[in-house]
Amino acid sequence: MTSVNSQIIPLRDWKIFKGRPLLISGPCSAETEDQVMNTARQLVASKRVDVFRAGIWKPRTRPNSFEGIGTEGLKWLRQVKQEFGLPVSTEVATEKHVFEALKYGIDILWIGARTTVNPFAMQALADALEGVDVTVFIKNPINPELDLWLGAIERIQKAGITKLGAIHRGFSSFEKSAYRNQPKWQIPIELRQRLPDIPLICDPSHMGGSRAFLLDLAQKSMDLNYDGLMIETHCDPEKALSDKRQQITPAELTELLDKIVLRNPDSDDNSFLNSIEELRSQIDMYDDQLFEILESRMKVAETIGKYKKEHNITILQTQRWKEVVNKTVAKCAGSGLTEEFISTVLKAIHQESINRQMKVMNE
Ligand code: PEP
Ligand code: MN
Repeated sequence: MTSVNSQIIPLRDWKIFKGRPLLISGPCSAETEDQVMNTARQLVASKRVDVFRAGIWKPRTRPNSFEGIGTEGLKWLRQVKQEFGLPVSTEVATEKHVFEALKYGIDILWIGARTTVNPFAMQALADALEGVDVTVFIKNPINPELDLWLGAIERIQKAGITKLGAIHRGFSSFEKSAYRNQPKWQIPIELRQRLPDIPLICDPSHMGGSRAFLLDLAQKSMDLNYDGLMIETHCDPEKALSDKRQQITPAELTELLDKIVLRNPDSDDNSFLNSIEELRSQIDMYDDQLFEILESRMKVAETIGKYKKEHNITILQTQRWKEVVNKTVAKCAGSGLTEEFISTVLKAIHQESINRQMKVMNE
């Protein structure tokens, strides 16, 4: 069993050996024996899934929602493993969860975003895992701090766990976004630069929070050369007791996977193309961020426009503009950006600001 066991194929090389990403799938939560077995049976029949997932203990934002079936569900996971030969995984958040999961032969334990964020909880888990031979995946912490994620991984490494993976599921934010959790792709990219041997898996289900975003997010992670995907599936998503908007049926998973374009990493030419694609995806990511920031800046300019209108002040104030240019040039000194470039960019931004303020003035 455990074809995901890194002693057979190191997880980081999975894509190279298999020519496709590692795929983890299964329901958000184990609900009934029937739901677990039925979902697993369909996933096995699709021949696309490498690891079955199901939450047994669910960290829910508010109390009085379904908080997981508990230990009883571990029997169903064991049954999936025995009946279908599929490695199984679940989330652990306490020492008790670790001991229970190991008792039932769970192959992969993952640590959730609400746990990774807490160094005390991470250390308690690391202590419980000391000397144990099991695979552990660590989700990014809920807040966008790379160091917390790195720290959590280091604690588990120090406990002697060598079969490790990182799962990128996005970050909480007050900023409004269509996504449930903001991807902030630069953080996992930086993680991989710091820890190149740790496989990186994308969880577009918790990132998007909706079926509608799964394909785009999964494709983006493949373009960034991630090693695998974790996607939530349920035999009857509409009836799911948790995360029903983001779960899809096993048949829909197959359709989704068929649409993802994978770049083949096995020839020299292709590995060159892969690097170019990966770098281009990084450029796209920075462009997206640049324009999001520019739009936020324009919104502030509009608010200033309203204020100027109320107080009867002219739009263009030469002194203020000179200060903006000088300050920016001074700040960027030594950054590699030339003065000419800075001033060209600022002029274009300033012009757009003026246009937006004019509109406000004339409303
Ligand atoms: C989950 O995978 O079901 C889960 C609760 O994930 P996260 O920790 O990313 O919220
Ligand atoms: Mn979920």
